Amino acid sequence: MLLAEIISVGTELLFGEIVDSNAAYLAQQLAARGVTLHRKSVLGDNLARVTDGIHLALSRADLVILGGGLGPTDDDLTREAIAAALNETPHEDPGLLTWLEGLYSSRGRAMPQVNRKQAWLIPSAEALPNPAGTAPGWFVRTAGKIIIALPGPPREMKRMWQEQVLPRLPLPTQALFTVTLHTQGIGESNVAELLGDLTKAANPSVATYARKTGVDVRVAASAATAEEAQALAAPVLDAVRIRLKRWTWGEDGDTLAGAVTRALAGRSLGVIEAGSAGALSLLLADEPGFLDAAVTVDHARLITLGLTPVTLRDQGVVSEAAALELAVGAREHLGADVGLAVVTAPGGQGAGQTYAAISGRGVEHVIHVNWPGDAAQIRERAAVAALALALR
Ligand code: ATP
Ligand code: MG
Repeated sequence: MLLAEIISVGTELLFGEIVDSNAAYLAQQLAARGVTLHRKSVLGDNLARVTDGIHLALSRADLVILGGGLGPTDDDLTREAIAAALNETPHEDPGLLTWLEGLYSSRGRAMPQVNRKQAWLIPSAEALPNPAGTAPGWFVRTAGKIIIALPGPPREMKRMWQEQVLPRLPLPTQALFTVTLHTQGIGESNVAELLGDLTKAANPSVATYARKTGVDVRVAASAATAEEAQALAAPVLDAVRIRLKRWTWGEDGDTLAGAVTRALAGRSLGVIEAGSAGALSLLLADEPGFLDAAVTVDHARLITLGLTPVTLRDQGVVSEAAALELAVGAREHLGADVGLAVVTAPGGQGAGQTYAAISGRGVEHVIHVNWPGDAAQIRERAAVAALALALR
């Protein structure tokens, strides 16, 4: 088993000024390749602490991945820290220096002297070319362990990981098979209850995740080959599919909007949004059946779209009656087979109150949800609630 640790280096990461998305990416990459990740940590730009961190990580893991701190300035200390942790002395590599100088002269510039340290190497390090920047990475082999230093900018880090690191890593030969089911209209604890004992096993494993679009259930199995992993997962996957059938709207890369399109079965969809600022239309934008949308909070305009003045006066825009009238309006005024309307209060009094209604084939349905949150969250959840309604 290959045990890994990730150390992200950067004071701005430590203080939360930027989010450590690199470590999240690397963690997913490792999991997909059967490498066991035991720890992720964040350290500031401090030589003693990073050196210490590398020491400690090496005592526990086979693979230590460092991110950031490969720039040319004094606070870029990753090279120094690896050298100190291994008790090795950096030297300027002539080949790397020539490459770096070439990079600058090809842009018609002279290389600043501070950049010379990006040409450093230690005896146990191999340089990893950076296809998108100036900082080469390091691939260090030491006493049966591996230390990898990657640049901080995500674009550079990802390319170096894919093109330079993966081919060099002694990856386990285990294959992973996973299927993720997407559900709607059921809470995570109820899903867990339905799954019962299935979530207790380690391989295949069954795990639940609460997402914006509902609860996801991931079934994963690992084995020597992809076929064996799939066979191992199959009975558990069948059981999960059966238990959650009523609530499942898709699997893996399916989107909620795509599931709505399938449910529409060729009929066209018109949308009216009041308060959700186009959040629903945005989710539907690329769907073939999505015909047209009206996005407005203007009362006069809503009346031209089907809202009656009586409903507006007595119940307001954010009401069950208004949602129903606008769903009919979306069908009639936008010329669609099916009309979908969402009315929500993203702020102010009654913030979070949302009604969604659907009208088609002579049937109308309406739902009411009320989630607290900021305006962006309320709009997004209102859009998801409307899509969920359209699935029924
Ligand atoms: P540079 O040559 O740009 O200085 P570097 O290897 O020294 O590269 P850092 O200085 O640590 O890397 O980070 C450069 C930038 O990359 C940061 O300002 C930030 O925008 C981004 N970055 C660094 N680390 C991460 C991370 N873990 N997750 C997301 N973005 C990051
Ligand atoms: Mg830097």
